[in-house]
Amino acid sequence: MADRVPVREQDPKVRATNFEEVCYGYNEEEARAEASRCIKCKNAKCVGGCPVGIDIPSFIREVENGNMKEAADVIAKASALPAVCGRVCPQESQCEGKCIRGIKSEPIAIGKLERFVGDWARENGYVPQKPETTNGKKVAVIGSGPAGLTCAGDLAKLGYEVTIFEALHEPGGVLVYGIPEFRLPKETVVKAEIENVLKLGVKLETNVIIGRSITIDQLMEEEGFSAVFIGSGAGLPKFMGIPGESANGVFSANEYLTRNNLMKAFREDYDTPIMGGKKVAVVGGGNVAMDAARTALRLGAEVHIVYRRSEAELPARVEEVHHAKEEGIIFDLLTNPTEILVDENGWVKGMTCVKMELGEPDASGRRRPVVKEGSEFTLDLDTVIMALGTSPNPLISSTTEGLEINKWKCIIADETGKTTKEGVYAGGDAVTGAATVILAMEAGKAGAKGIHEYLSNK
Ligand code: FAD
Ligand code: SF4
Repeated sequence: MADRVPVREQDPKVRATNFEEVCYGYNEEEARAEASRCIKCKNAKCVGGCPVGIDIPSFIREVENGNMKEAADVIAKASALPAVCGRVCPQESQCEGKCIRGIKSEPIAIGKLERFVGDWARENGYVPQKPETTNGKKVAVIGSGPAGLTCAGDLAKLGYEVTIFEALHEPGGVLVYGIPEFRLPKETVVKAEIENVLKLGVKLETNVIIGRSITIDQLMEEEGFSAVFIGSGAGLPKFMGIPGESANGVFSANEYLTRNNLMKAFREDYDTPIMGGKKVAVVGGGNVAMDAARTALRLGAEVHIVYRRSEAELPARVEEVHHAKEEGIIFDLLTNPTEILVDENGWVKGMTCVKMELGEPDASGRRRPVVKEGSEFTLDLDTVIMALGTSPNPLISSTTEGLEINKWKCIIADETGKTTKEGVYAGGDAVTGAATVILAMEAGKAGAKGIHEYLSNK
């Protein structure tokens, strides 16, 4: 059996100095060669590994035969964001993790093939089918991240008149303000896939903060919306609560990335710069930490990832850790900050840390890090970025009568997205806490189905 077709990437030394995309993806010849490795299993385990249930063997068969439009049609039935998902989904633990070819050799590069089809669709003007008529029922979707976009697109296909309300001036949620350009290009990839959702007839109103500009109760009682889907994400950053955390030069990863991605701080033609830092520590080990670290590196800093467990426990995708190492990020593992040191003008000058060792497993099943006696040391720094996770903003729940949340501030919703308030559905990070693009899309799909059933029986 042939080996997996390797994917071309920008040289690590060169890409560490620019914001252009790291991975070039497959060309048609490479995609067809990789597709031919798939044995098109009758009981295709890969499909069960895809949260939105893409018919993976069918689209791969079309790619192998050179029928790219047909491949795009197969994917479009389940996903509106193939070029996004092909780039950022954790395929290694989903479809590719289940691929039968992976038992004896390498799994099929399903993500790279999906990306190829998504890119082909965009470059060849592929437009999704718009319904001919609407059913006259209005549904409001709050938030234009992957959950909101998916819910809106699915409802529009079912004939609903959908309006997305987005707090920011640009739609896309974390796809535009969180994930950096070098992993997910905004102007080409993200914008085009959002536009495809809008082409289904979905209306978009930006700069509308639900809970401030207008409430959910007003949308339903005064503006004629029969149902609402909340896909407002989990944008509230967490901090450690250690001394010095309010010093100048300490950022949440969300702020640091938003300034770069949304406010384009990295581009000289924008007058919204950021203090890039010369020596930066990023505290955390997830995808967000890798993105913040690789952004700071590209802005010219020496960058340390400070993480309290070992490499095996790093929650970031293996590919992202690999890329970060290739680019020269320094990993200070089994290390925990205890204090941020501040100079006489209130700026960060260093960070005191202790070394850790792994003890017994904790409630999450991972071995609990415990402090090594006498291991305290100091890192000289000018910038610290906290990437410790996020939780949902309580603005919507605190301004909506009857909408309940749990102790983590997440909206309570069942598997159909139904919340404790009639006609209001929710999904994505707002319900689960920070998770993944594809899980948010799965929740958006479930919410659209739930709303359709609710409004059909009303
Ligand atoms: P979001 O994408 O957060 O979108 C919510 C939207 O709602 C936002 O646009 C927000 O402005 C809007 N909103 C919030 N409140 C209001 C309001 N009151 N009124 C109106 N609008 C409102 N996942 C992966 O699968 N792979 C990755 O590689 C990956 N990398 C990541 C890197 C970073 C830096 C971050 C932060 C996350 C990453 N994730 C990744 C996680 C993934 O992006 C999220 O799980 C996903 O975007 C959640 O989708 P969502 O639609 O629920 O919320
Ligand atoms: Fe192809 Fe792997 Fe899916 Fe089988 S499990 S159909 S080999 S991608």
